[in-house]
Amino acid sequence: QDQSQTAFDVIVVGSGAGAMTAAVTAADQGLSVLVVEKSDKFGGTSAISGGGIWIPNNHYFKRIGGRDSHDQALTYLRAATAGRVDERRLLAYLEHAPKMIHYLEKKSRVRYAVAHKYPDYYQHLPGALPGGRSLDPELFDTSLLGDELNNLRSPSPSTLLMGRIAWTARDAHKAMARERGWRFKIMGLMLRYQLDLRWRRKTRMDRRAGLGSALVCALRRSLMDRKVPLWLKTDFQELVLEGGREGGKVSGIVVDQGGVRRTLTARKAVIFGAGGFEQNQQLREKYLPGPTRAGWSATPPGCNTGAALLAGQAAGAATDLLEWCWWAPTIAVPKEEKPRGVFAERAFPGAIVVNGLGRRFVNEAAPYLEFVDSMYKDNAATGGRSIPAWVIFDAHFRFNYAMGPLMPGQVMPDSRLRKEWLGSVYWKADSLAGLAEQIGVDAAGLAATVDSMNDYARTGIDADFARGGNAFDRYYGDVNVKPNPCLAPIAKGPFYAMRLDAGDIGTKGGLLTNADAQVIRADGSPIPGLYAIGNTSASVMGTAYPGAGGTLGPAMTFGYIAAHHIARGA
Ligand code: FAD
Repeated sequence: QDQSQTAFDVIVVGSGAGAMTAAVTAADQGLSVLVVEKSDKFGGTSAISGGGIWIPNNHYFKRIGGRDSHDQALTYLRAATAGRVDERRLLAYLEHAPKMIHYLEKKSRVRYAVAHKYPDYYQHLPGALPGGRSLDPELFDTSLLGDELNNLRSPSPSTLLMGRIAWTARDAHKAMARERGWRFKIMGLMLRYQLDLRWRRKTRMDRRAGLGSALVCALRRSLMDRKVPLWLKTDFQELVLEGGREGGKVSGIVVDQGGVRRTLTARKAVIFGAGGFEQNQQLREKYLPGPTRAGWSATPPGCNTGAALLAGQAAGAATDLLEWCWWAPTIAVPKEEKPRGVFAERAFPGAIVVNGLGRRFVNEAAPYLEFVDSMYKDNAATGGRSIPAWVIFDAHFRFNYAMGPLMPGQVMPDSRLRKEWLGSVYWKADSLAGLAEQIGVDAAGLAATVDSMNDYARTGIDADFARGGNAFDRYYGDVNVKPNPCLAPIAKGPFYAMRLDAGDIGTKGGLLTNADAQVIRADGSPIPGLYAIGNTSASVMGTAYPGAGGTLGPAMTFGYIAAHHIARGA
């Protein structure tokens, strides 16, 4: 790739979904654009994500007759963000998110469908919908990328059927919830994969990409269509500021390419889409609650280390929410480069989560952000007994449902699991007391907790945490289990335990921005020429996670907003 050009209208730092959306939009506005990515792969965390985007009032939902409105979504967002976010940013999001996705559908390779059964996460808040705001990427034919496919950050095996077959979140949900026809669906996907003989000869990976991989492939192809260069192994180091820190203008960046420093000129603006700081242990210890480990994060190791945050701070930017992550519990698996997020399985009937005292401390089916937030709160209250927490289930659960890397026993019995996983990924004993001893959990506490849960499973009412009491909890329940699809007894040995860490899928705090995605100082004035989106910016969602796609939706929307704002020359 020719890398001789050194001046562009816009330089976008990072190649996640927000960054590439900004680049596509800016190019369509007639601006010359460069995308720089420090890694040797494009896509960032966005590439290994579910690719879901939370877009209130979107046209896909309307197309299938769904009803949503700007006002209803605003009511919900106001309640979810509880005054923590400048209302002008909320309004900008609500106005532009539906426009952004409509635009991408019309002008780019990006294709979505509505996951109409996926409920907003806070069903108790006014304005919540039982489905319709979360969108799920359609599968993407990766042959359209040609050789560029080699530069894609590979999806995690956990996001693929059998570790290699692409599927949509809608398909995955059908299988997990064991909805009618799920077996046919799976067989169909496997058959399509097997019969693609031409592609099979090339690689065992699926020709199609799904989820976050589909999203970033579609955006990457859209950049190729526009001849927008994306330079890999180009590590942003610092901003070039004209006129000093006070009142200065950002006019470029300094990058490192394999040890060689280069200065690149951005005639109009720099857009930071360089992720957060979750992979930087030092910054974690400085800002996040403890205990904290970069190794608990489900994001790609080494990518998001906070360079853009530090450069923004050095340029005088204000910050917010630095003590927050997009929390999600994770399970570490030996030989895998990063742990796996545990998003759905906590809601399956017959698994409970306990602290070291053997006590439950949260509704296991709660959204992942609130789940880990509860781990931290309980950890403080119990003197350090909730990080890690332990998920406990029995032989019946093991046979029927997945948990982390353990596929249901009916597909993958214990005899076929890797030997080294016993005692590192899962623990197993004939009795609950034996299990408690192995994992250092109070046996009497665990026995009492299981007794009450077994009662709750019979009555269908979780008297402690109301698990299964709303549409979001039940989304990942088993529709065939009555009276409560999220509750089943833990009674049949052997019994199992798995360790849950206080993980994340990215940090949530960062540079403070205004409704135009401009980075602002503490007095609210914008730093000319500097924009931030995605996890480089303080989230427009405040401390909340309103629904599936609550991180990528804003990243892409504010990328779209930033590009238009730059093009208007404002
Ligand atoms: P990224 O996508 O991580 O992109 C940042 C890029 O910047 C990276 O490629 C990085 O290498 C690059 N970069 C960093 N520093 C530099 C530098 N100095 N110079 C140049 N480049 C740099 N969110 C949703 O909304 N919906 C979902 O369905 C969803 N599912 C998820 C599933 C999993 C398993 C995980 C781990 C996350 C999921 N998330 C989801 C969260 C979401 O993926 C992230 O919050 C989102 O990708 C963050 O986007 P970003 O653009 O800020 O960062």
